[in-house]
Amino acid sequence: MSQAAATPAKPFPFLSGRHLDPHAYPDGVAFLDGQYLPMSQAKVSVLDWGFLHSDATYDTVHVWDGRFFRLDLHLDRFFGGLEKLRMTTPFDRDGVAEILHNCVALSGHRAAYVEMLCTRGASPTFSRDPRQAINRFMAFAVPFGSVANAGQLRNGLHVAISDKVRIPPASIDPSIKNYHWLDLVRGLYDAYDRGADTALILDFNGNVAEGPGFNVFCVKDGKLSTPAVGVLPGITRRTVFDLCAEAGLSALAADVSVAALKAADEVFITSTAGGVMPVTTIDGAPVADGKVGPITERLMALYWKRHEDPAWSSAVRYP
Ligand code: PLP
Repeated sequence: MSQAAATPAKPFPFLSGRHLDPHAYPDGVAFLDGQYLPMSQAKVSVLDWGFLHSDATYDTVHVWDGRFFRLDLHLDRFFGGLEKLRMTTPFDRDGVAEILHNCVALSGHRAAYVEMLCTRGASPTFSRDPRQAINRFMAFAVPFGSVANAGQLRNGLHVAISDKVRIPPASIDPSIKNYHWLDLVRGLYDAYDRGADTALILDFNGNVAEGPGFNVFCVKDGKLSTPAVGVLPGITRRTVFDLCAEAGLSALAADVSVAALKAADEVFITSTAGGVMPVTTIDGAPVADGKVGPITERLMALYWKRHEDPAWSSAVRYP
């Protein structure tokens, strides 16, 4: 058979446009197996348990205006996860911090989404014993991204409450930040089917838990509450508690029922990917008058203002 005959006129007609360019990666720098690389070259083995079994932990910190925000808290959570999963890396806290600084500095980004992660890795013999695997540490810095876009930050997100249940803490300790996201992704598709921007899913008691990459707060009669169990203890959630303590606002971690969320005066979500973000519609109905509330607006302003505070932020060591 000639070469020409072996090559179909359209090589892969089943692929849609977005699959055609395997080199379309966000602009950034990764650290992998001891080297700094462009994102397009940062690749791991398909035999890595991080990929095969979701056996990994990670953390994401952001850089805003050239400064890391609360990096210490993200490092605490990451190293806590490593310990609970019995993983080790060749790098201690200072070593990881230096790699993160280098990834951002080499990328040149002033606003970045910076991830550190460790997978179980793989064993040279493909052993089924996780103790034989060589754990693999990686990190990368890409442009800052937000759950909410500019319009949604101004006018509020439309959130749908899915009936999917977040993986219970008895199965996976949620303080180990992890990639067990099938419940969240299925919730997200429920939300898209209902015309919403994103989803909240439930805890094992039917109360509100969290969403794909964020915690949730509601405000009723000036008091804030956020789900207490079955959720990642988010650093942005913690930051809201800290800001509330400083501002004399009451904030509590407690069960939040679906009914309480829908009857709230204000609702917002929190994430390193976007900070404090307003929610003004739940399941197609407005939250209170459907406008971004005053406490949400105040916390959004306080949150971004504190990015300049050296007590909570540190300058990236650009060359
Ligand atoms: N919940 C989940 C499941 C997350 O993945 C995240 C962040 O990625 C959050 C909550 C928010 O946590 P943080 O404020 O630390 O970004």
